[in-house]
Amino acid sequence: MNFLITGAAGFLGSTLANQLAREGHQVRGLDDLSTGDPQALPPDVHFTRGDVNDRPKLWTLLQEVDCVYHLAARVSVPESILYPREYNATNVGGTVSLMEAMRDVGIRRVVLASSGAIYGEQEVQPLAEGLTPRPRSPYAVSKLAAEYYVRTIGSLWGIETVALRIFNAYGPGQHLPPSQPPVVPYFLKQATRSGSLVLHGDGNQTRDYVYVDDVVSAMIAAATAPGINGLVLNVGSGVETSVRDLARLALKVAGSGSNLVANAQTGGGVSRMCANIALAEKKLNYKPSIPLEEGLRLTLQRDARFKK
Ligand code: NAD
Repeated sequence: MNFLITGAAGFLGSTLANQLAREGHQVRGLDDLSTGDPQALPPDVHFTRGDVNDRPKLWTLLQEVDCVYHLAARVSVPESILYPREYNATNVGGTVSLMEAMRDVGIRRVVLASSGAIYGEQEVQPLAEGLTPRPRSPYAVSKLAAEYYVRTIGSLWGIETVALRIFNAYGPGQHLPPSQPPVVPYFLKQATRSGSLVLHGDGNQTRDYVYVDDVVSAMIAAATAPGINGLVLNVGSGVETSVRDLARLALKVAGSGSNLVANAQTGGGVSRMCANIALAEKKLNYKPSIPLEEGLRLTLQRDARFKK
């Protein structure tokens, strides 16, 4: 099959591109390289640097494409609180630009990378797709708006859509910015460099950590699975882990004696998050196969930034 991946040079996009290319598919990638790294892509992926709002570029890239993976986005929750207009322009505007270009070219299916962040604080766990979303940041609002846009205009224009609500994905190659990094690469970096692991809040807040290869397996299934048009599907591990337990596991796999330090000054965000993955199991035959400890070991082994 022929695929276009937006955000192809990012963490999930490049892992997906590598897997699709290994399976013998034709892959094109678009990324503005605001955070992505084109070196993460294999040579047989046709890469174009550009903005997801650039419709002429999209028209060219979309020719002969069977399915689009839409991953291009700005992804930092704290940054989105500072710059909501930019988050809206890329995450919502970029999604609408892509859908318009897909309509113009006649593309059949799009798989949208949405986020578990759209759930916000809920009374019940695990989180099932039917819950009313309670987004708590401009980032989460933008992912929810993108979901509504693809489903609504997709059904009006005859484009099949599926949105995957990805929970806390982690693995080799995850972007590690100096300020406000994602928690898994931050803990692994601190553990391998004997720095303290600072927990936001008391560290008792829980998240659902899912290894990148499991996310990619769900994405690949979503390109061809029947009977999923218009659905949103959770993609997590289905296992709830506290941030404190994640930190302890990071120390264990790194063989590190670093300290854990709770920072009461910073909030821990949403108190609990765990994906109910029953719908993805049923519709995509999705079976997450990498437990957290193994995933952390694989990340340490495969990501040169964590070599001691
Ligand atoms: P990432 O930042 O590594 O990848 C996003 C990519 O989009 C980057 O390479 C960036 O350069 C590119 N990009 C940003 N703005 C662009 C623009 N205007 N035009 C073209 N490219 C642009 O993040 P990721 O973790 O790989 O996330 C990929 C997608 O998955 C995002 O849509 C994100 O919201 C979603 N998601 C990720 C997670 C996770 O845990 N990693 C969880 C939920 C949802």
